[in-house]
Amino acid sequence: MNNETKQLMNSSSPQPSLFRRFSVYLKDFKFAFVVAIFGMIGYASIDAWIFSQLQPIIDESLGQQNYQNLRIAAYFVVPIFVLRGLFNFMGTYTLSWIGNQVVMRMRQQLFEKYIHLPVSYHDNHASGGLISKVIYDTEQVSAAASKALLTLVREGAFVIGLLTVMFYYSWQLSLVFLLIGPVVAVIVSVVSKRFRMVSKNIQQAMGDLTSSVEQVIKGHKVVLMFGGQKQEKVRFNDKNNNNRQQNMKLIVARILSVASIQVLASIALAVVLYISSLPAMVEELTPGIFTTVVVCMTMLLKPLKQLTTVNSEFQRGMAACSSVFAVLDQDEEADKGQRSVDRLKGKITFNDVTFTYPEGQTPALKSISFDVGVGQTCALVGRSGSGKSTISSLLTRFYNHQHGDILLDDIPIADIKLTDLRKQFALVSQHVTLFNDTIENNIAYAAKNVSREQVLKAAKIAHVEEFVELLPEGYNTMVGENGLKLSGGQRQRIAIARAILLDAPILILDEATSALDTESERLIQDALDKLQQDRTSIVVAHRLSTIENADQILVIEQGQIIERGDHTSLLAQNGAYSQLHSLQFSEGKKD
Ligand code: ATP
Ligand code: MG
Repeated sequence: MNNETKQLMNSSSPQPSLFRRFSVYLKDFKFAFVVAIFGMIGYASIDAWIFSQLQPIIDESLGQQNYQNLRIAAYFVVPIFVLRGLFNFMGTYTLSWIGNQVVMRMRQQLFEKYIHLPVSYHDNHASGGLISKVIYDTEQVSAAASKALLTLVREGAFVIGLLTVMFYYSWQLSLVFLLIGPVVAVIVSVVSKRFRMVSKNIQQAMGDLTSSVEQVIKGHKVVLMFGGQKQEKVRFNDKNNNNRQQNMKLIVARILSVASIQVLASIALAVVLYISSLPAMVEELTPGIFTTVVVCMTMLLKPLKQLTTVNSEFQRGMAACSSVFAVLDQDEEADKGQRSVDRLKGKITFNDVTFTYPEGQTPALKSISFDVGVGQTCALVGRSGSGKSTISSLLTRFYNHQHGDILLDDIPIADIKLTDLRKQFALVSQHVTLFNDTIENNIAYAAKNVSREQVLKAAKIAHVEEFVELLPEGYNTMVGENGLKLSGGQRQRIAIARAILLDAPILILDEATSALDTESERLIQDALDKLQQDRTSIVVAHRLSTIENADQILVIEQGQIIERGDHTSLLAQNGAYSQLHSLQFSEGKKD
């Protein structure tokens, strides 16, 4: 079953199965749940009991001047509130504890999923969305679920308690409430539907607002350069205003609902007053009973209102849950490779390889065949978008080719365990990724058990040392998010040092020298030459001067090899390569 059908089934599958899946997270917390529910019910019972004591206090203590009761009450009131506090602590603390455990587990699972998903998944999903799943969606699941449970149990118990007290004292007056109650419930549920709709719009508006701020901050230089300030201001103003309007709608809905519920309550009160004034009732009613019933009625409004939102709260949690599960259901990077290999020699064979990107229409590589012998250097040249980087992505199995064979030391790469396969390569790619850590740790990132001396040696070979020496904190300098505090060339040199330290049999240099000036390029080239000596290398280069010594040069055009040979033989062919060469040569002369 592919992912899309899985997702479809997920979204259309009934809530119970979603909930059943969610409840797996809760099964370790059974005892905690019992404690929480006990606490919540205890809390609500005490509250209801307190209201039931109004009648005796009013009628007996105050009405009949039997002050003994008041004194007893005085002794008990503090212990009762202490007990109430304890119950509250039991309920709320335990519930939050469970909630936070669930959030932590979900976050960890999502995080671990992300680092195991194939490259193609990340190609198709914006990083912002993936981050917000870990940060917000997991939080939503637990917040909404605990709120729903808290309301259901605590407010539910409170409502039952209050109704019991009311009916115990005067069922006639209490009946009035039963007539009014459902109307209140209807109003609240209509309003909460509106709330939900507006809240969704607000979330959307917030998302728009956030992403437009994010874009402008990230693209600040572009905005400055192209004088886009005015345009951005207008665009932001629209979104900002939309957000404000949505918030106002929410406020209007809230005010109207409060007002209408209060009017309804006043009707109920009017009816209660009227019934109380009937001769038959007047005889039965004492001041205490009357007060208790009216107070209980008033107290009922809030928990009832909350109870009507339980379902929507629960739905909100389940919606977030399904968004998290959709990611957890994604297939991880497939690894059917069984063979574990140690260090390979480094012979590469491409045999009639054709590959189309998962979302692509036309093949990015068509019938590619070539061999690179152990220790040899193979250079790939060709226009931008011709498929050079794709070749290296297939070697490291970031993507799986659909047709043909790719062999390493005559073993199909699909048979090799993924972790073992990737150990064979040191990759310096077009896009250097540095972590927000020190220079030293960035160099040592992939290498295991290396000494500081080895790191420094690699740094020296890659000419990292030269600029590190000028930094006040040297190798302990933090590089900033994605190495932003370093220049492009400096970042590239760190990446090269990383590759040197790895000491893998195969080196992939995807324009490793593209961000360097001529002087540094010469130094780096020298380092790379040394590095390539006993290694198989695949070198992608735009500047042909860097690959003149390659054993084999492949000229790629639109995913196909159109010419192959070494520098001299290719020049002699007078084809695409020689054209490229003369073009660059004349440019070089002009400089
Ligand atoms: P450059 O010299 O600019 O780095 P390249 O030769 O390395 O170019 P590739 O990155 O291999 O080019 O891309 C080859 C083709 O595959 C391009 O047409 C590109 O649009 C397409 N392509 C690259 N990456 C993806 C992807 N992740 N999904 C879909 N298509 C892609
Ligand atoms: Mg490329």
